[in-house]
Amino acid sequence: MSDHLLENIRQAETFSKKLDPILEIKELWGKASLEHVLNFSESLAESPAFINNPNQAKKLLEFPFQEIGISMEKALEIITSQLDEQGLKASGGRHLGYVPGGGVYPSGLGDLIAAVCNYYAGVFYVSPGAVRMENMIIRWVAEMIGYDPGTCQGNISSGGSYSSLIAMHAAREALGIRARDVEKAVIYLTKQTHHALTKSLRVIGMGDAIYKIVPMDKQFRMDAQVLEQMIENDIAAGFRPAILIGSAGTTDVGAIDPLEQLADISGKYGLWFHVDAAYGGFFMLVDEMKKAFSGIERSDSMVIDPHKGLFMPWGTGMVLLKDGKKLLQAFHSYASYLQDLIEDEQEYSPADLSPELTKHFRGLRIWLPLQLFGVKSFRMALREKRLLAEYVYQKLKDMAGFEVGEPPQLTVVTFRYTDCQEDVNHFNEKLIKAIQQDGRIFLSSTLLEGKFYLRFTVLHFRTHLREVNTCFEVIEEQVKKLQGFS
Ligand SMILES: *Cc1c(COP(=O)(O)O)cnc(C)c1O
Repeated sequence: MSDHLLENIRQAETFSKKLDPILEIKELWGKASLEHVLNFSESLAESPAFINNPNQAKKLLEFPFQEIGISMEKALEIITSQLDEQGLKASGGRHLGYVPGGGVYPSGLGDLIAAVCNYYAGVFYVSPGAVRMENMIIRWVAEMIGYDPGTCQGNISSGGSYSSLIAMHAAREALGIRARDVEKAVIYLTKQTHHALTKSLRVIGMGDAIYKIVPMDKQFRMDAQVLEQMIENDIAAGFRPAILIGSAGTTDVGAIDPLEQLADISGKYGLWFHVDAAYGGFFMLVDEMKKAFSGIERSDSMVIDPHKGLFMPWGTGMVLLKDGKKLLQAFHSYASYLQDLIEDEQEYSPADLSPELTKHFRGLRIWLPLQLFGVKSFRMALREKRLLAEYVYQKLKDMAGFEVGEPPQLTVVTFRYTDCQEDVNHFNEKLIKAIQQDGRIFLSSTLLEGKFYLRFTVLHFRTHLREVNTCFEVIEEQVKKLQGFS
């Protein structure tokens, strides 16, 4: 062996060892990061909900990766100015647009532990604890929605879209829809169905299937009677009714389809019944709301987003299949040497239930907050959001000049200002722009049957009465300004 080789190894090692810095540096970086996070969350109560900065993080481009690293102080400075001081503060309580997410503190700590300890959560025998933890979370959700935790299976994914993709692929496999069958397969949905579903179907090669938009009642729920008629007609015409997509809380208005009726019809005609509960699902934790979801337990697959209704950070979704074997059949790989082990293993591996092999250990970011806070805190927070939505609705109903949409089934309230000289749609477009420009609160908008509405969505764990009342102040102020009264 040449001295030269050893010399080169030692030289490389002096640098490579920097990837595992000494304890003091780890502590220093840890403290600085923690301080950053705490400053950030403490300042949320006063900072704007939306900062329209024309700079759009351009300064980031001035910091390409260098051969030699920068200080943590400098790195945090860049993060603060380029990430925190512009755009939507999605982790603040005055984010009342779209569907707000979460970001509870212990989730971040769970991520820290998961990343630094780097547990391999793809395969049970590599990290039995990590996989069992994720499967326990799935079984906990199964119990909540009424699937049999013993026979269902699921996956903790990156979100509702990815979960939908998993569900649609499993549905197609279970139904045995071959390439030549696609053009005769019929998918039933409504105008309110989230586009993640049609996108998923396109991705899995079912873009050329037949998409039937089922009419809705005035509360934006699928009309089951018309659905059945459509199915009968499609059968008579030689098509194959395949997948029925119900929503348990549409993103747009929070509408819950008549799930019992949809389950009846799916059963009668042999359709795959999928329920999209990405936004609404966790309201099932609230006793008085459970009834609204009745029938969800009869679905074949369902999607639920912990990064919405369970206040977890973005990138946390879930999919469940009532018959877990169908999920396994859709995703396990025959070539895998692990197949032999499956029979003896106590838990199925995520790698056999989803497209991913190596994956982020998302379970810990859910497990830790549930353990630390206890389920009741989540249950009560969701009840509070629901009651706040009711409060918003009643208050807007009584406010002069405003018109409200349908009563909220979950926590979306739609409304518009109508007491104006100009075109109502045009006025409300100006109103939403003015509110977003003001920035103290963030609302979004939607178009319902040609009418422009503002949307008020209560779902953030930091949204309480105070934030909601600030919202009313801003709305009234901006209306007055637009009307020229101030
Ligand atoms: C948010 C949402 C989705 C999409 O989920 P992502 O987590 O954003 O990918 C799908 N369906 C409904 C009803 C949603 O609210």
